[in-house]
This record gives sequence, C-alpha cells and structure tokens, in this order.
Amino acid sequence: MRVTFLGTGTSTGVPVVGCHCRVCTSDNPRNQRLRQSVSIEASGRHFLIDTTPDLRLQLLRHPIPRLDFLLFTHSHSDHLMGLDDIRPFNFRQRESIHAFANPMTAKAIRRAFSYIWDTGSQLGGGKPQLELHEVEEPFVHEGIEIVPIPVDHGDWTILGFRIGSFAYITDTNGIPPASMKLLEGIEVLALDGLRPAPHHSTHFVIGEAVECAQKIGARETWLIHLAHDVEHEEVEATLPPGIRLAYDGLVLES
Ligand SMILES: [Zn+2]
Ligand SMILES: [Zn+2]
Ligand SMILES: [Zn+2]
Repeated sequence: MRVTFLGTGTSTGVPVVGCHCRVCTSDNPRNQRLRQSVSIEASGRHFLIDTTPDLRLQLLRHPIPRLDFLLFTHSHSDHLMGLDDIRPFNFRQRESIHAFANPMTAKAIRRAFSYIWDTGSQLGGGKPQLELHEVEEPFVHEGIEIVPIPVDHGDWTILGFRIGSFAYITDTNGIPPASMKLLEGIEVLALDGLRPAPHHSTHFVIGEAVECAQKIGARETWLIHLAHDVEHEEVEATLPPGIRLAYDGLVLES
C-alpha cells in the first residue's frame, strides 16, 4: 500500500491569498500546502480521499494511471469542490466512478453537484459520471476493506477511514470512544493538527492532536490540514518522537 499526500493544507491553502506572513512567503516547499487530500494505491487499485479545489493540479503533480474509486470525508468545499475534475478518468475509463460517503455528505454532494444527476441538462463538455454510495459500516470494494471511522467535526459527524493498519482522520476536534475502538492496532495515522494555537471549534490544534495520537498509539502519526500558523521546521521540532508534520508530496509505503 502506498499513500501520497496530495495536499496537507487547511481550507485556504498555504500561502493564503494576500498574506505576507513569514510562512506564506517562505521558500521552503514544506511551508506550501495545497488543500488536504491523499491518493492511495492498494492491491493494484488507485483511489482518492476527497476531491479538493486543487485536484487538477494535484494529479498533474502526482499522476495516477486510473481512478478506481473515491472516498469522501465530508462536504466542506475544501474537500469537495474539485469533483468535476474526475471527468478525464470517466472519458478514458469509459465508466462511472464509485464514490462512498456518509448519508449527510452524500446529500450535500447531490445538492452541490446537482447537474451530475440532472438528466434534463445538456451534456456540453461532459459531466462527471459518479455512482454515489452511502456508507456507515465497514465495507469491501474492489477487494479492499474500508472501515469508516465516525469523528466529530464541530456539530457534524464526518468520516475518517481505516484501510489495513493505516488510518486517515482529517477535520476533527474529537474522536468518540466507539471510533477509538475501530482504531486499535493502527500503525500509521494521519490526523488533523491545524495550528499550534488558539483553540478551534471544529479542529484539533496541535497539542490536542498530540494527546489524541498518543492515546491511539500508532507507530507513526503525521499531522495534516495545517494552517499558515505552522512553520514546518519550527513546529516539527516541538513534537514528541513518532509524531511529525505531513507535507505535500509525502509518500508512505507499507
Ligand atoms: Zn477541511
Ligand atoms: Zn500567512
Ligand atoms: Zn471541514
């Protein structure tokens, strides 16, 4: 299994438009973050978690030979709005692409991208062909076992995903006890860490993410969804052993 971090930034991306702070003007590529997403290759299949507004650029940087399916964590724009850019895979593969989301996210996708399901609208340059499935329980697709992990994101319950001994949990400020059980035995974890401070109502800040990561006890934890408050080298130097900051282009193989 191979996980490629296509983007590790918060909703604005880093640099933030119009910001002149030292992180936004940094030459260090690890301070430059597209929106949060990963591409995963497992058992010869290629899939993405979320379709960010940067999806096209992300897949030009890190090409995949085909797109077998999509997993959606939730419907916030920074995780969804690149969905139209799956069309080249539809054209090339001549098939619709299966996508999996919880019922709340699926409903929001049907609303935000209503033209996909509007049979009356003209085809023009083509629409994404998507077969959207609602999931809440573990399922197997293309021979890959996928365990949805419900987590808190403010008032919303959104999904993290476990695939084998890897778990991906973006956009969270709390993991309920039943979901902590689903994370037992995880070896590699990607977890929302947003920024060092101040506290946030829908995201873990770094201290909270570290505490949660230590409870989960993965061999390696990579903090994701990072804001422009995070200077890569400085913040990474403050983290305990086994916990690091993810960065765009990071590849983990297991
Ligand atoms: Zn987000
Ligand atoms: Zn900035
Ligand atoms: Zn969000």
